[in-house]
Amino acid sequence: MGLRFDTMKVHAGYNSAEHNNSAVVPIYQTVSYDFNNTDHASRLFSFAEAGWLYTRVTNPTVHTLELRAAALDGASAAIALASGMAAISYSLLNIAQGGKVISSPYLYGGSADSFRRMYAPLGIEIIQTPDILYPKDLEKHISKDVKAIFVETLSNPNGLVADLEALSELAHKHGIALIADNTFATPYLLNPFKHGADIVVYSATKAFNGHGNVIAGLILESGKFPYDNGNYPQFTQPEYVLRDPANPSHERSFYEVFGPEAFTSRTRLAYLNYFGAALGPFDAYLALVGIETLSERISKQTSNALKIVRYLEESPHVSWVNHPNASGNAQRDLVEKYLPKGGGGILAFGFNGSIEQSEKFINSVELFSYHVNVGDARSLISNTAKTTHSELTQELQEEAGITAQTIRLSIGIEDADDLIEDLEKAFEKAYE
Ligand SMILES: *Cc1c(COP(=O)(O)O)cnc(C)c1O
Repeated sequence: MGLRFDTMKVHAGYNSAEHNNSAVVPIYQTVSYDFNNTDHASRLFSFAEAGWLYTRVTNPTVHTLELRAAALDGASAAIALASGMAAISYSLLNIAQGGKVISSPYLYGGSADSFRRMYAPLGIEIIQTPDILYPKDLEKHISKDVKAIFVETLSNPNGLVADLEALSELAHKHGIALIADNTFATPYLLNPFKHGADIVVYSATKAFNGHGNVIAGLILESGKFPYDNGNYPQFTQPEYVLRDPANPSHERSFYEVFGPEAFTSRTRLAYLNYFGAALGPFDAYLALVGIETLSERISKQTSNALKIVRYLEESPHVSWVNHPNASGNAQRDLVEKYLPKGGGGILAFGFNGSIEQSEKFINSVELFSYHVNVGDARSLISNTAKTTHSELTQELQEEAGITAQTIRLSIGIEDADDLIEDLEKAFEKAYE
């Protein structure tokens, strides 16, 4: 039927009979579920039949969020988790066990820092290289044990756009998966699957939910990647958890049972099940309410941000502005290709003054909230070097494109002129 983005996709998976005809999805605030009989229980526990088991693994409210998130990006399957960090770490642990991952260095602070500290002791080497911006130069980093390429489609905080098509072409040439963190762009601005991504992760904490009241993460998969291509024994080896109930000595592999949805299935039944970062039903409910307005929020944030970018570009108090739609952006061709609806609500700028003046500026805004969240319905401000990226040394901050003067704005859905007036007054106070 060719539905547009902002019509019925946010209602996918909603079955009013299953949900007792209520207008919104009920909150199934339950840990476990009745089994029909002992045979039913045994079939559920060997995954011979799909059904409700235990809320750490599946819950009807959480699953409705999974179905709707999958529909928004046209994914074949999705799983929801307790945070964006859980979505990223479970994805990398699942895909790369004992191998390497090539990553962008232009990342959310928590990702950048965890990549440096947490994975090597677990036997996963993460290579963060600026060559990610030049896919032609990236091939030299690919060796036999590289299992995936990881990028942010639109980077935090500087809005660098990843060339997904070139990256996926390179990944697929070597039989490895492309994982894209699409948190900043959201499904409204960019669908990474359309450009070759195999796995998409979100921090649904941010614009996906958009109300600053939930920590949540999502993992989506295309359903097209050949996990039986020889690079991923974890998906093709028989597992006890997938034994055949009629013939318990016959153990099956995730690929055998779930085919090209082996990735999300194994993330759910191994990582979510055993490591346990499950999303609660109430938080899933809040996220379900949040995504009802995703397209409206992001389009308003995008048009507001564009006005603020133009205002800052004219300001004598600003030395540079980074946003996909900033004037003179060297990535113009990529922005036109991947972000035809605009570059979103998040931007960074260089404060043209001393650290004391920039702190006075932040302390003087009234309409902007000084929070480290992004993608919220309200406008937010933060000093990146001292907050979100403060774990990084100065050298690593420079590599990630962050300076002491960097100020990040996440533009909300307020009136753009009110926001500009607020910035103008704060600049005046900073230079008094
Ligand atoms: C916030 C964020 C994360 C982490 O998500 P949480 O939900 O806070 O755990 C990951 N990636 C990006 C791009 C983010 O902005």
